[in-house]
Amino acid sequence: MKKIFTVVILFIVIFDFVSCKKSPTEPEVNTNPPAEDVWSSFSYPAFSYTDRDANGSGAYFETYVGDPDTLMKSLALQDCRVLYHDPGEAPKIKQISLVVDTLNGVAYTNGIAVSSEMTLFSSNYLSSIMSNRSKSAVISEIEGVLAHEETHIWQKNADYGSTDGWSVIEGEADAVRYLTGHDNIKRRSQGGKWTDGYTTTGFFIVWLQQNKDKDFLYKLNQYVGTHYEFNWDVACQHILNEAVVDLWNEYQAAIN
Ligand SMILES: [Zn+2]
Repeated sequence: MKKIFTVVILFIVIFDFVSCKKSPTEPEVNTNPPAEDVWSSFSYPAFSYTDRDANGSGAYFETYVGDPDTLMKSLALQDCRVLYHDPGEAPKIKQISLVVDTLNGVAYTNGIAVSSEMTLFSSNYLSSIMSNRSKSAVISEIEGVLAHEETHIWQKNADYGSTDGWSVIEGEADAVRYLTGHDNIKRRSQGGKWTDGYTTTGFFIVWLQQNKDKDFLYKLNQYVGTHYEFNWDVACQHILNEAVVDLWNEYQAAIN
């Protein structure tokens, strides 16, 4: 009995010694290669940049953003990663033209031909934000506006002439702006309606993604792609099995 006891003690001591040879904090050697990023095969369109206000405030655009083509290329990938699961799902765009011009408003995006899109950025708007914001704040605003505008190039189209269609297009663009890191949650405010578009709809989409379905924006964009006559209530019933008014009321109470 005593001999068995001694053997047991010896075993425990040896086991303890052996097990202590490897520190529990020692990193495990991962023998699996890192998973390949599917987005490494993303096919970029051609980019072009034109400054139609080079003798005015447009001259400052490159001072803030550096190379405009590089910025638009970076935003293309960021936007598509938020909207799609893999590059094969993104639309095939051949050309994106960025034009800085003296415009009313902030920025616009238009299709100019099949697979060719133009984003216009207002040099008047640039002039107005340069006068009262820091350099980093101006850069953030330009990147945020262009993240929104480029979403219009990559997202699925709904009927822009209807309230529901317009609000899902503009809401998705601001949701993508936030989810790509180019907006501030401080721009979220209470009130309004889910069909108000822009940040009002955008932060609602973000909240649904973060609280109801982590794939909500993807599913919403896919749904828009097969439902040009978009309807918020039908879409939310389809994706989340809940009425949009109930989701909106829950969202409003949550951000109170
Ligand atoms: Zn827009």
